[in-house]
Amino acid sequence: MEVSAFQELIERIYLTRDSKRGLAGTHMWFCEEVGELTRALRRGKRDELEGEFADVLAWLATLASIAGVDLEAAATRKYAAGCPRCTKTPCACH
Ligand SMILES: [Zn+2]
Repeated sequence: MEVSAFQELIERIYLTRDSKRGLAGTHMWFCEEVGELTRALRRGKRDELEGEFADVLAWLATLASIAGVDLEAAATRKYAAGCPRCTKTPCACH
């Protein structure tokens, strides 16, 4: 699934509810999910990890939608040409 298709899917599932909660409240949920990902990484359980990565991506996508950001366009603009600082792939910054 492409990033834009994923963002649209998450919009269809959650945007009405997440928009009502607003940017600040949704950001708190996003941070909570990042915390859950941190715990899953520490425990190193593969089945938990995949779910937590998916959750963080979903909350990032809904946050971007509420903020009016097209994630795929933003990521492409910033990273398609390589590292934004040194423009190399792989990055040659120190
Ligand atoms: Zn670099």
